[in-house]
Amino acid sequence: MKLKIHWQILIAMALGVVVGIIFQVIYQGKPTGWVFSIIVAFGTVFIRLLKMVIVPLILSSIVSGVASVGEGKSIGRLGLKTFLYYFVSSILAIMIGLILTNVIQPGVGADIPVGHDFNAENLKTPQSPGEIIIGMIPLNPIQAASSGHMLGIIFFAIFMGVAITKVKSESRDFMKKIFNSFFDVMMKITEYVIKLAPIGVFGLITKTVSTAGLGLFKTVSLYILTILGGFIIHMFLVLPAIFYLTTRINPLLHFKAMISAMITAFSTCSSNATLPVTMSNVEKKAGVSNRVSSFVLPMGATVNMNGTALYECAGVIFISQVLGLKLSLAQQFIIALTALLSSIGAAGIPAAGVVVIFIVTQAVGFKDTDIAAIIGVMLAVDRPIDMFRTTVNIFSDSMGAVVVAKSEGEKNLYPRGAGSR
Ligand code: ASP
Repeated sequence: MKLKIHWQILIAMALGVVVGIIFQVIYQGKPTGWVFSIIVAFGTVFIRLLKMVIVPLILSSIVSGVASVGEGKSIGRLGLKTFLYYFVSSILAIMIGLILTNVIQPGVGADIPVGHDFNAENLKTPQSPGEIIIGMIPLNPIQAASSGHMLGIIFFAIFMGVAITKVKSESRDFMKKIFNSFFDVMMKITEYVIKLAPIGVFGLITKTVSTAGLGLFKTVSLYILTILGGFIIHMFLVLPAIFYLTTRINPLLHFKAMISAMITAFSTCSSNATLPVTMSNVEKKAGVSNRVSSFVLPMGATVNMNGTALYECAGVIFISQVLGLKLSLAQQFIIALTALLSSIGAAGIPAAGVVVIFIVTQAVGFKDTDIAAIIGVMLAVDRPIDMFRTTVNIFSDSMGAVVVAKSEGEKNLYPRGAGSR
């Protein structure tokens, strides 16, 4: 009997925790030795394989997806629905962050050890929202592809997909055939890579657990718990509610369909690296067409980050509480707005969220020197938060794909699950 892949991955994760704890205890958080280095290599190889497939996968999937939408009007409609979903789900996430941090007040009385070795200069302050929009247009699509510049690739691919539908039928059919076949092959590679997920997840989780410096976690435990509480509310109440209201499908079916993508996000801390798995789960298990998934998911991996949005907002209010500042309503509004923009601007890579938090703090006028120590501590304990943040991020993208697919009248959702009504 062969165990289903998501069970294999779950077991690997549990094993990773156990082995990680053993290394943690033996080496006091600084593990070495060849056994450890081999286990870590499993994780690194898995991430590299995922990354290897991202650029060709999104290029082929978007071009073939957009070209199959057909004419310009339906692209506009698809785009509108997608952005509406991104916007509503992100705003709700931010509201949860805002409310929880105001009620629980995790920063009041938090004893942050100042003088923590952290240098604000080392964090590159990311682009402003205006620059993000300009940067979407690649000067050279080949370069965008070779440097993994996601928004640039997406922009070019959408353009190309649209243009394919406008050329004479001979060229159109030829190009569609090429990109459809290319996409099929990329999905096949993704399937092979997913087969290795149990080993990769084992390596990644072992590394994270065995190298966690546990001391600081106690100091800021209330901060961590507040944010995790927000994630739980968003992922298990708010998103399923939106999902059920718009599709009338049992959300549990979706949780089940997305298990391998969620665990991959959890262990890689990267929406981008998880994208191949997310696409495979959404198309193969949730039954969404490539036409919709290729529109909602690649863009969602960079643009729609509910977990990050919640975190930006909660994180900045936490900082102000540690500094003993009372924020006015207007300031909180600015924080919410900047949290939205910076979650859009944050890349789908590990720790991106804690880096862009600088944008939000600047928007309310904090000086880097005041907040450096606090952000240093936040950075030191960020990994577990990032694991959950990324899971929420991709989970929201995937639900968005189903919501949009259902609204487009797709019938074959959750082909293996009992009841899409
Ligand atoms: N790691 C997150 C992601 O890839 C981004 C973040 O740090 O918030 O989705």
